[in-house]
Amino acid sequence: MSVATPTENIVIIGSGPAAWTAAVYAARASLNPLVIEGEPVGTTLPGGQLMLTTEIENFPGFPEPITGPDLMERMKAQAVHYGTRVITELVKDVDLTSRPFRITPNYSAPRTAHTIVVATGAAAKWLGQPNELRLATTGGGVSACAVCDGALPFYRNKTLGVVGGGDTAMEEAMYLTKFASEVLIIHRRDSFRASKVMANRVLSHPKIRVLWNKQVAEVQGSDAITGVKLADTVTGETSELPLGGLFLAIGHVPNTAFLHGQLALTESGYIKVTSWRTETNVEGVYAAGDVIDEYYRQAITSAGTGCMAALEAERWLAHHGIGESPVLETAQAPIVMTPQEDAA
Ligand code: NAP
Repeated sequence: MSVATPTENIVIIGSGPAAWTAAVYAARASLNPLVIEGEPVGTTLPGGQLMLTTEIENFPGFPEPITGPDLMERMKAQAVHYGTRVITELVKDVDLTSRPFRITPNYSAPRTAHTIVVATGAAAKWLGQPNELRLATTGGGVSACAVCDGALPFYRNKTLGVVGGGDTAMEEAMYLTKFASEVLIIHRRDSFRASKVMANRVLSHPKIRVLWNKQVAEVQGSDAITGVKLADTVTGETSELPLGGLFLAIGHVPNTAFLHGQLALTESGYIKVTSWRTETNVEGVYAAGDVIDEYYRQAITSAGTGCMAALEAERWLAHHGIGESPVLETAQAPIVMTPQEDAA
């Protein structure tokens, strides 16, 4: 298929905090960025995981809570205000084997780009219970991020459930003890996958109890969660457990399928970047946000790496004679001073 449009300076794929922050920086650097923000498919929405959260109290600059969708709308509006163009489609394919890179959206014509920022995020895994996602999107007491939501007044002094047996479940359970009257870890096996040190901390905590060999069979409640139905994974017996909140900590899946293996990934499937940089193994392709991060996973860290990716792309473009001079220089790309400038 032919490519009718001129080659873009920078195409940003994604629509969470990393993508919009990269777009703001690229737009303000006069790079005329194009964001391909995705489209709604099932539980995946443009805006990413924040579209599934309610109140956000830990994004700097907002003394009053702001909802996830509001924050995303504002970030997008800021990017658009400075000249970002947006396509509301998913990317179905990229060709990173030759330059300029080629990006094929679902419906419109393929684009070419000198640089790409991949900021496609990661999707939290859900149990797939019909009531689960409904309550998660309506502030009904179901969440996939305790650090994001656990401090909200809704969860205070209640019995809270955490599903999972990995390090995230341990960390989230510990975090929730600050606010909950009791934390119950619901785990499908009889031993944790989490590191010993974190598991021991949890097992010795007076506010935490573990329900072994239990799977959530049903999430109950209409406006807000009232409890869950549990199924014993050994005996098959079912039981009811009243809860004031439920946190899923059963892992994340980074959104990299559309890359078809063209970027190097970490063992757990996140895009591999150079330490304290966002450069991938393909020169001119940068990655930012949760698609590179299984450790912090916060809106603010995601935004931070989005900024880094845009600055790195800007510098790459400038070094290749596209765009204006970069502000940042590093050891890999030192400023070459004339003798006169050096003496000044
Ligand atoms: P994880 O290690 O993959 O653990 C996921 C947990 O969820 C497992 O216990 C798994 O059970 C359970 N699970 C998965 N699908 C389930 C389902 N459908 N129903 C019920 N339970 C289900 O994920 P993670 O805890 O998010 O950790 C991801 C990575 O980040 C790990 O490498 C971890 O070490 C790292 N991490 C490190 C820290 C830290 O060092 N502070 C903190 C957080 C995460 P099974 O055990 O039965 O498979």
